[in-house]
Amino acid sequence: MQLHRQVPVIDCHNDSLQAVLQGDPRYNPLRHRPAKPRRLWQRGESGHWDFPRALEAGQTGQMTNLLVPWRKDGTYIKSILKAYRHLELDLVAAPSMALLATTAADIERAHRERKVAVLLTIEGGEGIEGDLDLLHVYHQLGVRSMGLTWMYRNAIAEGNWEDTGAGLSNFGRQVVSEMNQLHMLVDVAHATERTFWDTLETSTATVICSHTSCRALVKDFHTHVPSRYLSDEQMKALAAQGGVLGIFFSANRELDDDTADATALARFIAHAASLCGVEHVGLGSDFDGGFPPHGLEDIRGLPNLTSALIDLGFTDAELRGILGGNWLRVFREVLGG
Ligand SMILES: [Zn+2]
Repeated sequence: MQLHRQVPVIDCHNDSLQAVLQGDPRYNPLRHRPAKPRRLWQRGESGHWDFPRALEAGQTGQMTNLLVPWRKDGTYIKSILKAYRHLELDLVAAPSMALLATTAADIERAHRERKVAVLLTIEGGEGIEGDLDLLHVYHQLGVRSMGLTWMYRNAIAEGNWEDTGAGLSNFGRQVVSEMNQLHMLVDVAHATERTFWDTLETSTATVICSHTSCRALVKDFHTHVPSRYLSDEQMKALAAQGGVLGIFFSANRELDDDTADATALARFIAHAASLCGVEHVGLGSDFDGGFPPHGLEDIRGLPNLTSALIDLGFTDAELRGILGGNWLRVFREVLGG
């Protein structure tokens, strides 16, 4: 917890706004009952993350997702705007707990004021519905990151479940260029391998992978195909261009071991750090979208991960980078501020 006070602790991906909007259906044993949305300023009894629990964990920065495009029903814009409105009301209701951040400086201010800095991402370029003007509108709302795809193919590129080897489309290259000009973070989480390499080649700014894990360590790919995880070669290439990758917290699932704990998760981080250099690895929990291990049942378990990393021999300076300093460096470079 001392380390958590020394640097803004930043997590680059969760689906918690989706979870509260839907009344945490994945985690609600009474899921046949109508979902009852809750607010992020309320301490939830289900789900993984909200403002009170983040503050308790000593966390500052959270990139949260406005869209999971799992239905191909063309309601992406409404979904994004509804999620945005839900968050907006939460921020208005709890100004002492959280603020909307669009720059690294905003995150540092939140850290000084012991607030949660919420950054906005859209997980899946379906959200712009093939129209670059929407990218500008979302930027105006404060969105500073976009994952090019989720699991499906869209107008921009191919996602993990629909991989024909086509990679980034011509429109996708325009989107990456436009994001570069807008100083938005280009995120290759969920990209196929070809999409990943095309994006690294196309982007003139540092590329991130907000939530992924180490393909070399995954024992069972379950519903995810191998391209959902970065190969050792991809990790090195992302880092060589200055990028940072976030390790998600689903260690028990990826190891096919229900007893996995924070130490098992820490080993994924150590593997990535050994390939990329420790300054290119960060947190990308996927809370409320993934399957965290024992000891990390919600964000309040984060100090257990920090302890496990200390036990693996990471120094305080290295930990400050993993916990938030590395993301902060890339945010400052790409977003400014
Ligand atoms: Zn995801």
